[in-house]
Amino acid sequence: MEKYKDDKVILTKEEYQSLLDINEKLADAEKRANAANKAKSDFLSSMSHEIRTPMNTVLGMNELIRMTLADPDIMIGEKIGRVIGYSNGIQHSGEMLLYVINDILDISRIESGKLEIRPGEYRMHKLLDDMIPLFRASAEGKNLFFETEIDTGLPGHVEGDDVRVRQIVTNIVNNAVKYTREGKVCLKISGRVSGDTVIYDMSVSDTGIGIKQENLEHLFDAFERVDSEETHYIEGTGLGLTIVKNLLDLMGGSIEVDSVYGEGTVFTVHIPQRMLSDEKIKDYTPDIGLSSKENKHHYYRGCKVLVVDDNQTNIKVATSFLERMKAAPESALSGREALELIRQKHYDLIFIDHMMPELSGVKVIKKIKSDPGSYALNKDTPFVVMTANAVVGAKEKYINEYGFDGYIAKPFRFAELDDVMSTYIQGEEYAEEPASGKGPMRGGPGGPPPGARGEIWDIDFESGIEVCGNAGTYNAVAETYLDIQEENVRKLAEGMNSEDWESYRLVVHALKSSSMTIGAKNFSGFSMTVESATNEIIDGSDKEKNLGYLRGSYNSYMAAYSAVCENLRRHLASVKHA
Ligand code: ADP
Repeated sequence: MEKYKDDKVILTKEEYQSLLDINEKLADAEKRANAANKAKSDFLSSMSHEIRTPMNTVLGMNELIRMTLADPDIMIGEKIGRVIGYSNGIQHSGEMLLYVINDILDISRIESGKLEIRPGEYRMHKLLDDMIPLFRASAEGKNLFFETEIDTGLPGHVEGDDVRVRQIVTNIVNNAVKYTREGKVCLKISGRVSGDTVIYDMSVSDTGIGIKQENLEHLFDAFERVDSEETHYIEGTGLGLTIVKNLLDLMGGSIEVDSVYGEGTVFTVHIPQRMLSDEKIKDYTPDIGLSSKENKHHYYRGCKVLVVDDNQTNIKVATSFLERMKAAPESALSGREALELIRQKHYDLIFIDHMMPELSGVKVIKKIKSDPGSYALNKDTPFVVMTANAVVGAKEKYINEYGFDGYIAKPFRFAELDDVMSTYIQGEEYAEEPASGKGPMRGGPGGPPPGARGEIWDIDFESGIEVCGNAGTYNAVAETYLDIQEENVRKLAEGMNSEDWESYRLVVHALKSSSMTIGAKNFSGFSMTVESATNEIIDGSDKEKNLGYLRGSYNSYMAAYSAVCENLRRHLASVKHA
């Protein structure tokens, strides 16, 4: 048939229909492309927010540390307390940043089809034992209950990628905590055996904000956050569940979600793992929580370690960690300097940065391997590359291609460096004492029954040690707290007698935060109430009422202060004698 007539095109019905279909497809594709584009733009803006927020804390808190240290009006004990508080903030923000960056790395692996599962032998009870105390702490930090219900008759000795299993469970539990304001989060583990495989069914339920039915289907799309009034102000990148879903697909597992908007959500993952023996999870008892390696460290007394990096800050971090391990670190700021040292001295272990100007870590290793005679003193010394290059396959490349013995990714934590050290050097194991619950220590003047809670002199030593980072620092801070007791008591008495509320306030303000640092939470709360009364007197509001309160509470405040000090003193005496 003639297709053209005058200026018009003549189509058959079928041709016309197929044109309509094509048009519809194009419109659809355009819609999807726009939506994907919007999702990526939203993602970029939320990502920059996710990075800026912790960055802001890091810079702000660091500035506060510098100001606090330089301020002549702040007493030394108070300085230590404040600096520790700020430094905890920096630590937390740094960890958040690392999560975001690791998620981005994982997403880029997914997009390039390079996300991998690396199976190895592991024990489920060990994994749970490591994770559960952390989950409990984060839930309790938000005043939520954390419960577990674990079928301990399930096989526990299996083959799988424990790092990724941990990532999956952690992600879901963290979400449950994040999107729940009150109530509880519960981790249930059941499962079944099929042939030589155990399928773990892990469900995490919460009493949180819930998810609307229409949003459930988009949950696992990359870059998608379910945007609603409730979630808008909660930090997140929308990457977590996408990564979880992809990991589960690679493991042959699956994920389901069930949610009632406004009431709560249950995420359930099914993870098949190959059984390696008949061993059961039963070794696991929920309350041994703190046996995790979090508190286990090693000393490597006198161990000679060389750290090579062109960045001073990196050297500072590594050598300070090593000093805490009682090793004897030395450093070199360039490949050339390192070669010189390695030629002249023996080291037990050498950490080398990869990217250095002039002579990179890889070139250093090459030179040493190609001229063993010159570096004979270190012919058996392990070389560990210390690098920020954490992409897939990097570790294998450094070890198999370049000839390093080990690998550690920057930034690393104390425990990670300790792990690498312990691979090569026999360390001396020690655990940092969680000092709480040690019988008499909970007691105070007048001897309340052991374990009694809620007394004004109670000290939560465990939380104090956590705030201070370790028991040694805690004890030092506690000593300072006691050192200034006399001076504080005098100042409080003077302030009260002369009605000098400004100086009274200074002391209670300092006591509020330093008491929190040592774990004397109730007394810190008392100090806060007293402080706000002084604030109001100084501002001139409700003066009579607040004056009445300050005078009326004076004796009990002083008694409480001395009771807290007494309790702390006994604690210090007992740890010294222990
Ligand atoms: P993020 O939490 O970083 O936004 P995720 O991929 O982990 O990203 O989660 C995607 C979205 O799913 C979240 O933004 C949130 O809206 C919703 N969500 C996830 N878990 C829960 C939960 N337990 N309760 C309510 N909403 C949830």
